[in-house]
Amino acid sequence: MAKTAAAVSVDVAAVEEHLSRYVVSCPLCKGVGHLGVAHDECKIISGTDAKDGIPVVVVMCKRCGYLMPLAANQISRNGEKSEAA
Ligand SMILES: [Zn+2]
Repeated sequence: MAKTAAAVSVDVAAVEEHLSRYVVSCPLCKGVGHLGVAHDECKIISGTDAKDGIPVVVVMCKRCGYLMPLAANQISRNGEKSEAA
């Protein structure tokens, strides 16, 4: 029953893993390891066509409050982590 109907579903855990794996630093205060998920999924609309949007995850720097959108399609869930223990 793990089937998802949504074309792009964002896994918050995967985003957090992405942030730690690629050591994403804050562009504003250069803080590393302070970024966390602020909004799990929203859309950036370019132009006037709402269908043209890119699904993004908003990450927030816990240090200075900087909000940074992260394209959801850049976060690939490669099922490498073993969930079965
Ligand atoms: Zn910051």
